[in-house]
Amino acid sequence: MKKIVIATKNQGKLREMRAALAMLPVEIVPLDASLPDAIEDGTTFEENARKKAHFYAQATHCAVIADDSGLEVAALGGAPGVHSARFAGHHGDDAANNEKLVRELTARGRNESPADYRCALVFEDMDGTAIVADGRCDGTVRTVPRGTGGFGYDPYFYLDEKSMAELTPAEKDAVSHRGKALRALVRELEVYLA
Ligand code: IMP
Repeated sequence: MKKIVIATKNQGKLREMRAALAMLPVEIVPLDASLPDAIEDGTTFEENARKKAHFYAQATHCAVIADDSGLEVAALGGAPGVHSARFAGHHGDDAANNEKLVRELTARGRNESPADYRCALVFEDMDGTAIVADGRCDGTVRTVPRGTGGFGYDPYFYLDEKSMAELTPAEKDAVSHRGKALRALVRELEVYLA
């Protein structure tokens, strides 16, 4: 069975991606956490996902799916965008990133703003074949958090009256940027792997 490495060290993303890819006839392999981090210096989500996929395909000698995703807040001019994971300075410090989000909105006299989550996924095979898919989820960020599910900015990202962190994993998957991108990628992979 073909092996595909999921090129993320983020357990929240790994969980969501593993569930969505479960119907493919492939063995899903988590990334060896001791591998170095790929350099994410692109200016778009797709550029960064391509860089990660290529870096980890070379490092693991295996087909890879990489994701780059983030939050774009209209009142912050689209920030944090591709810098979402390190908005407050340290990669992956969700609490500090959320504090900064609230601080920046409050500094502009806002308690909410239109926002969207974006996700780019890139599959890269060992022969260099690349398949790209993306997804977007529109909502509102608010300065008051709700819910304990999901990860990252989810307690502050609202779809109507519920925050993303109040949704079950299945409910989040049905509407999220990553769920949409994964479904698009799975459709392409079903054809590619057949
Ligand atoms: P990266 O794609 O690993 O560079 O980081 C993406 C960052 O965007 C994460 O660390 C989170 O802060 C944020 N993010 C991406 N997707 C989600 C999501 O589904 N929920 C909450 N935060 C997310």
